[in-house]
Amino acid sequence: MSYKLFIPGPIAVSAKTMEAMTSAPIGHRSPDFVALYQEVQPRLQDLFGTTDPVFLSTSSAWGIMEGALRNVSRKRVLNCMNGAFSDKWNDVANRNGIPATALKFEWGQPVDPEAVRTELATGNYDAITLIHNETSCGCMSDLPALMAVIREFPDVISLVDTVSSFSAVDIPKDALGIDIMITGSQKALAMPPGLSLCSVSDRALKRAETQSNRGYYFDLLEFLKNHEKGMTPSTPNIPLIYALRSKLEDIFTEGKEARFARHARLNAKVRTTIKAQGFELFPDEQFGSLSLSCFANTRNLDIGALNKSLKAEHNLVIDGGYGKIKGKTFRISNMGDETDESIQTMLDAVVATMAKTPVVAD
Ligand SMILES: *Cc1c(COP(=O)(O)O)cnc(C)c1O
Repeated sequence: MSYKLFIPGPIAVSAKTMEAMTSAPIGHRSPDFVALYQEVQPRLQDLFGTTDPVFLSTSSAWGIMEGALRNVSRKRVLNCMNGAFSDKWNDVANRNGIPATALKFEWGQPVDPEAVRTELATGNYDAITLIHNETSCGCMSDLPALMAVIREFPDVISLVDTVSSFSAVDIPKDALGIDIMITGSQKALAMPPGLSLCSVSDRALKRAETQSNRGYYFDLLEFLKNHEKGMTPSTPNIPLIYALRSKLEDIFTEGKEARFARHARLNAKVRTTIKAQGFELFPDEQFGSLSLSCFANTRNLDIGALNKSLKAEHNLVIDGGYGKIKGKTFRISNMGDETDESIQTMLDAVVATMAKTPVVAD
């Protein structure tokens, strides 16, 4: 049974990408691997908007999100929290024994740059975590404004999760002054899960040199040492790197600007169509994500029943809400390879199915 995913990750993977993964494995210390690794670097740096290396980690994003934090923070980290993923980064800091302060906003509200400035001005911090696009509630914070504030504090290393926005919107790492920028394979890159990508500034690597408890698997200095030879520290998921090479071909054939414009256009189509059905966007319009849409279930539809019908009758799946806002919200992704036609087909199915979906009693 196969159906198409319109949840905000993992998302649909093209036949071309799947096909790319079927190449026979090569030795990860072989010249063939070095050639593959070095072939993807320039395009990755272009997409990240950086001259820094882009490390490839065989893990989901959380692996490197946790690891990177251990590499750069020991005094205290400021965790900006406005949804499930950013909340979890605070939990991760606590579990690693890294002193951490929770800077909390309502789910669906963006991170406020002024609040960040006030906290960082205490001088208590050596690092800050930030999620650009809070996937759980479809809220995109103003990254340029936040980075402008964070750059006022040169001792604070910035860790920015762009897991669900990377390659859907332009995030020029160096121009924004981001130290550590992290993404994963299964969101807007439209690859299967299992690979994460992370670009790290010199400043952050210098900090790592002074840290004694970096661990091994996610030691950024190990990544750097191997990167210089065109390799990864451990045996990587080579099929996913083939998939990455194929995906980079697609992205640069389409063109970055065209890709960003396509995501914005398809996102607007989803918003307009679902709002016309009587729903509201969960976050403020201005801070609505451009790679997915999170709607408040203002009509009180039985989202579980809606999704069951969508899957059975149209072979597609949307998301029924995350964590504490499950059922109160629902989410539709426009990440990856979607086109005007494929988004329209999905929306037609959703609208038709909504018309016969029961309301839940409060
Ligand atoms: C999906 C997601 C993650 C988690 O990624 P994993 O690959 O499951 O570790 C982290 N942050 C954001 C914003 C996400 O959307």
